[in-house]
Amino acid sequence: MVAIPDTGEDVDRMSAPFTQRPTRIVVDLEAIAGNLRSIQAHVGVPVMPIVKANAYGHGLVQVARHLQAVGADRMGVAFVEEGVALRRAGVSVPILVMGGIFGHQVGQFLAHDLDITVSSLSKLRQVEATAEAAGRRAAIHLKIDTGMERIGVHGYSAGPFIEAAVRSRWCEVRGVYSHLACADDPDSPMTALQLERFLEACAHFDRLGAPMPLRHLANSGGVLHFPDTHLDMVRPGILLYGVLPDPASRPTVAVRPALSLVSQVVYFKIVRAGAPVGYGATWTAPRDTRLVTVPIGYGDGWPRALSSRGQVLVRGRRHPLVGRVCMDQFMVDIGEDSAFNEDEVVLVGEQDGGSITVEEVARTAGTIPYEILVQLNERIPREYRGAIQVSPDPPARD
Ligand SMILES: *Cc1c(COP(=O)(O)O)cnc(C)c1O
Repeated sequence: MVAIPDTGEDVDRMSAPFTQRPTRIVVDLEAIAGNLRSIQAHVGVPVMPIVKANAYGHGLVQVARHLQAVGADRMGVAFVEEGVALRRAGVSVPILVMGGIFGHQVGQFLAHDLDITVSSLSKLRQVEATAEAAGRRAAIHLKIDTGMERIGVHGYSAGPFIEAAVRSRWCEVRGVYSHLACADDPDSPMTALQLERFLEACAHFDRLGAPMPLRHLANSGGVLHFPDTHLDMVRPGILLYGVLPDPASRPTVAVRPALSLVSQVVYFKIVRAGAPVGYGATWTAPRDTRLVTVPIGYGDGWPRALSSRGQVLVRGRRHPLVGRVCMDQFMVDIGEDSAFNEDEVVLVGEQDGGSITVEEVARTAGTIPYEILVQLNERIPREYRGAIQVSPDPPARD
């Protein structure tokens, strides 16, 4: 009888069926913790690590638990569902949900003790009504729009909004914030304008004689390039994962990438000069050459835009993807080199001194590093290095 290997219990349910895949994301949790410390040292104010969108592809629950274990005292997500998932996973620090809310969701925020972004007067009224009915105060952060035109009350009409919030019996105003549209670019004049508008809106608290709540504005770009925007707290996302937001960004904070994406050669072949390769026969071997096939594709979130453009590392050397990226596989031209089945293929990360960054992949695919990271989906198992052993539950006794 052949033993069927256990897939292990310490993996989240979504990826459990795939844990035997040769393709995997390796997340270095120590790198994330180190990046958090670097950011903290750079800004000197509290840091709200942002873990939305599956912690930028790194794994929501595992990253958040690790952050809490290394001392993060708050976190930010985009959607209430992400906040609820964190509470269910035992994350107990304050969690701010940054997205716009729907009235029917307010009960969920209250039930799970999640901080609400209130981005209009009518949403404030919805929060108040639900909080009153539930008999408990809602913790809120007021969202001011200073130039992004996404959610939030325009700075120039924030007076009545802020007044209604500070007078509200059923809301505790913990913060006031805005979001920067152009902070990735150190030379954009937009950021100074947004800061000025934001501080003008904050002045309403003083005018009303109300205590100033936590003022926060800076995303990763703000952290890197605009010290004036750090105010009382910063909200870095991508920088926490060791990735710069934009090619124009300056590395003013020392961070290192936490994510690697690796696979293995599943097939080796020699093709003859003139042989077309892949769907649509878009690439033709210019000479007799050697190809390897790698078992990951756009069905995993590996961009199809890398067709005949991207590169990977095999045995420490860079080789080009040839032909179209398929749903589950792609082909690589290794030329005169040799490779064997099961050889490691690095799509993002380091191998024998070679290195491919998320920034490079994004540039080649014609997109931003954020999109590359977050679209790596649950079909790819995540492996965690550097986890801290915490036992929130006492060991079961029998
Ligand atoms: C996503 C997000 C952030 C983090 O942005 P990064 O550019 O990844 O640092 C901060 N604040 C808000 C409101 C966001 O939506």
